[in-house]
Amino acid sequence: MFVYADNAATTAVSKKVVDAMLPYFTEVYGNPSSLYSVGQKAKEVLEESREKVAAILGAKPREIYFTSGGSEADNQAIMSAAKAGAKKGKKHIISSKFEHHAVLHTLQALEKEGFEITLVDVHENGVVDPKEIEDAIREDTALVTIMYANNEIGTIQPIAEIGRICREKKVWFHTDAVQAISHVHINVEEQNIDMLSISAHKFHGPKGVGVLYVKGGIPVSNVIYGGAQERGKRAGTENLAGIVGLTVALEDAVANIDANNQHLAPLQERLIQGLSQIPYSELNGDRHTRVTSNVNFCFEGIEGESLLLLLDDKGVAVSSGSACTSGSLDPSHVLLAIGRPHEVAHGSLRISLGEDATEEQVDYIIKSVAEVIEYLRSFSPFWGDLISGKRNHVFAEHKEIA
Ligand SMILES: *Cc1c(COP(=O)(O)O)cnc(C)c1O
Repeated sequence: MFVYADNAATTAVSKKVVDAMLPYFTEVYGNPSSLYSVGQKAKEVLEESREKVAAILGAKPREIYFTSGGSEADNQAIMSAAKAGAKKGKKHIISSKFEHHAVLHTLQALEKEGFEITLVDVHENGVVDPKEIEDAIREDTALVTIMYANNEIGTIQPIAEIGRICREKKVWFHTDAVQAISHVHINVEEQNIDMLSISAHKFHGPKGVGVLYVKGGIPVSNVIYGGAQERGKRAGTENLAGIVGLTVALEDAVANIDANNQHLAPLQERLIQGLSQIPYSELNGDRHTRVTSNVNFCFEGIEGESLLLLLDDKGVAVSSGSACTSGSLDPSHVLLAIGRPHEVAHGSLRISLGEDATEEQVDYIIKSVAEVIEYLRSFSPFWGDLISGKRNHVFAEHKEIA
């Protein structure tokens, strides 16, 4: 059996999306900036796509900027707010400890330029407390940026509430909604969101294309300079096929949120129940406040990398930590942020189901994980120390799950 269960890393492009994109490679290939008809046709499709994306997000078309993906959108949102803030003497930014690196590393770069960054805690359940955001806001706060759903543990943040607080305090609010957009109903107007990032390849669209929404009135700064594309704010000939693919994939994802959640919730439950049977294991992140595709566990006495490679041999594609950190020996900053000690944070497993996941696949994942863990523990000196009592367990042998 082959089970692809790493949909938080990327997804397959759907057939419908590929078909919708094809004419924009070979037929309507004109440059949207050209004045002849094949260029103008491209321009028309570009603006239609912008209108559709805007309507889905509850935004206006001129508030939508097409980017090269989620990372660029995050960078541009933060840099825009930082530049505009600095002009008014506001050089303080609030975020959380478990953001994506596209956010955290941008903030680190700003810190070197004299900005002050406050990272609020995400607690054991992997959820930010809006009260802590409120308490952290100062006179000189330029921006609050909090992700909508975490990419490793899937926990969903109280975005509308944080947005309400930011509105009240007149501080701009950005959310990285890359992992949330296909699982949660999002409306920027209703949820008080000033800036938002999404990426097509996380919802069955192509890689290398994303959207930055910026509420009208907030000044946008360039990350890429050059031509006058995207109202002068993002230079470069538009990736029209990609933008069409993103739009079709987004329409599909958002239209099917409820049906997909209904299908996935019992499978997620089955997976959590099944993996909880493995001794000395624990679910990471809140049981209920999480996207329905995500299950993330820590196992004592296990090296995540070995776990995922042996699962690959069984045809199960999953991840340990995040894709960006695999290859490095540092444990996931997300798991450390929710209070997991180093030694168990190393033994983590992220399973992110696709919408077409089946019960058979889930059962196969559970069986495979249980077998691999028993095998790895059988010759692990670290595990030997735990069972001989030379080292203390971090987890209980079996945790009651509510
Ligand atoms: C994947 C991801 C990104 C990066 O998006 P790219 O399009 O790959 O640049 C940013 N934030 C989150 C939460 C993600 O999961």
